[in-house]
Amino acid sequence: MSTIKACKICRLITDEDKCPRCGEKTSREWQGYLIMVNHSRSEIAKKVGIDANGKYALKVR
Ligand SMILES: [Zn+2]
Repeated sequence: MSTIKACKICRLITDEDKCPRCGEKTSREWQGYLIMVNHSRSEIAKKVGIDANGKYALKVR
C-alpha cells in the first residue's frame, strides 16, 4: 500500500519521502487537492504560488 504525501515547501503531491522537485521532506498530513494543467494561464496558480504543472495539496502540515 502506498501512502500519498505532499511536499511541505512546494506542496507537490508524491509518494516519495523526499520531494522530487525541491528535496524537502514530504508529509502525510495534507488536505485538499489541486491539479494544475495550465499554470501560466491560471489565476489560482498565481495566488498559491505554483509555477509548474502537476498535482498539489492545498494545505500541508
Ligand atoms: Zn517540494
